[in-house]
Amino acid sequence: MGKNTFYITTPIYYPSDKLHIGHAYTTVAADAIARYHRLNGKDVFFLTGSDEHGQKIERVAKERGKTPKEYVDGIVKGFQDLWQKLDISYDDFVRTTEERHYRVVQDIFREIYEKGDIYKGEYKGWYCTPCETFFPETRLVDGNCPDCGRPVEVLQEESYFFRMSKYADRLLQHIEANPEFIQPTSRRNEMVQFIKGGLEDLCVSRTTFDWGIPVPIEEGHVIYVWFDALTNYLTGIGYLDDKEMFQKYWPADVHLVGKEIVRFHSIIWPIILMAAGLELPKKVYGHGWLLFDSDKMSKSKGNVVDPVVLIDQFGVDAIRYFLLREISFGSDGNFSWEALVGRINADLANDLGNLVHRSSAMMKKYYKGVVPEPGPERPLDAALREDAANTRRKLVSLMEELDLSTALATIWRFIGSVNKYIDEAAPWALARDESKGDELARVMYNLAESLRVISLFIYPFIPSTAKEIWARLGLDDELTDHLLGQARWGEMPPGTVIRPGSPLFPRIEDEKPPAKAPEAPQKEAIPEVAIDEFARMDIRLARVLEADRIAGADKLLKLKVDLGGEERQIVAGLAQHYRPEELVGKDVALLANLKPTTIRGELSQGMVLAAAAKDGRVRILTVDEEMPAGSKIR
Ligand SMILES: [Zn+2]
Repeated sequence: MGKNTFYITTPIYYPSDKLHIGHAYTTVAADAIARYHRLNGKDVFFLTGSDEHGQKIERVAKERGKTPKEYVDGIVKGFQDLWQKLDISYDDFVRTTEERHYRVVQDIFREIYEKGDIYKGEYKGWYCTPCETFFPETRLVDGNCPDCGRPVEVLQEESYFFRMSKYADRLLQHIEANPEFIQPTSRRNEMVQFIKGGLEDLCVSRTTFDWGIPVPIEEGHVIYVWFDALTNYLTGIGYLDDKEMFQKYWPADVHLVGKEIVRFHSIIWPIILMAAGLELPKKVYGHGWLLFDSDKMSKSKGNVVDPVVLIDQFGVDAIRYFLLREISFGSDGNFSWEALVGRINADLANDLGNLVHRSSAMMKKYYKGVVPEPGPERPLDAALREDAANTRRKLVSLMEELDLSTALATIWRFIGSVNKYIDEAAPWALARDESKGDELARVMYNLAESLRVISLFIYPFIPSTAKEIWARLGLDDELTDHLLGQARWGEMPPGTVIRPGSPLFPRIEDEKPPAKAPEAPQKEAIPEVAIDEFARMDIRLARVLEADRIAGADKLLKLKVDLGGEERQIVAGLAQHYRPEELVGKDVALLANLKPTTIRGELSQGMVLAAAAKDGRVRILTVDEEMPAGSKIR
């Protein structure tokens, strides 16, 4: 039996400046994994924090006329605000400047010193200040830092050293015996090569600056920032202050990190733990970078995308969805405006948003919004039920592998199946035939049940959308009271009242990012018209008999309408707003004496009137009660 706890961490971020979308990506991924395990009934602890010491912070603070603490307080507040905006459900936030953390770091340092694995020596080496790292001459690339490419400087100081070399073989054995320890496999192979190249003892104290945790053995030295930062994973679960809690959650199930810091987490950190006599984490997962025009996003390269701006513009779930869906989790992924808008429009507005909208609209139309008792299952209905069960099984196994993007693709494949089920089951046709009441009830029940199941599926990734759908379904318990692994088809109670709502994800019309602040729209005065001018418009009610897509024209639908005994063909720009079958049977307002024209080779004899909102939605005009086709609109 595995234990029923799950401990996940993000790296603790460095407050030298604001966070960018790459940090948001790591943290959103950790949040999705944490929420997923909570939804499976696990006792989850999700830790994040800030890494606040080091020479660079000391220097930046001085430049801005602040103490290091004043400076980091301001930046860390920004981190916490961003996590709140992004719906990050962390359980604790460790700041390395907290007293509880000082005590843990000093305790571990002293413990290892007393065992003889930290000793005093003289250090002379090449140091990269931005990376806070010493490098042996052999690792420099063209005389520069091998990690960031910036110039390094020679530093010499009396220092404490950590006997890493002593543990190299033991670490290698551990990595080889535990293939899951470093993932994905490509990173694991890199680390094995690195260790086989030989580990040198690590300098774990500094005397060249003060902004750090003091070495407990001797004044004038501060502890190396990575030794300090990595130890936060112990602080956050009560290493010194709550032994019971520590026993419960340690070892960590996953340290989620960017690939550039896998080395610190899979070599230095495990050796610190071995030396301190603690168990090693179960997994270090190094995800790829979020690239912007295929270049790593970093402040120095001036291509940072501000997550706050994106969230304000598109909403938190659109950003969460995009990050988790677009980037294959272990690999690098590209951020582009076009890709973001494409995902929002296709996956969120069309596939999911439309499914919710059309299901609730039909429920309202056929059952006054009340979910009916389902009739007997036909093969079509059984196939949907089995599809839901298969989707759940796949989702569980993909989430165990941390394959978040494929997990989302799998959920969206099911959403596509539900949309297809509507098309095939054609509830609008069943509704016209009184003998098909049982079948209609089954179809409409299944749609409500599908939405319930989809809410559970999407909750870890886009939690507020999931809860909104759950609420619209009129369910009186909380989504988070349910267990995903135990979700059974048919738990949607008949009699529940479904509440329609505004579109979950309005379509984004801008195909390009705004280059600058948009100018105030010019108001063009629309001239007045006399009543006789209006009377020249022959606007009539037309019943849609058939609707089809036009090959090669993704905005157009070809309609056949009944104008009261007269049939006409109309080409209408509605394909991005309605599926053809949604329009069949509808009564629409038609400008009937518009001069006929040919569009894409199809004759169009009139124009369907529709309301177009600024947010991009388009809805047809119709009447609120059955009226004869051909009725004059005046
Ligand atoms: Zn560097």
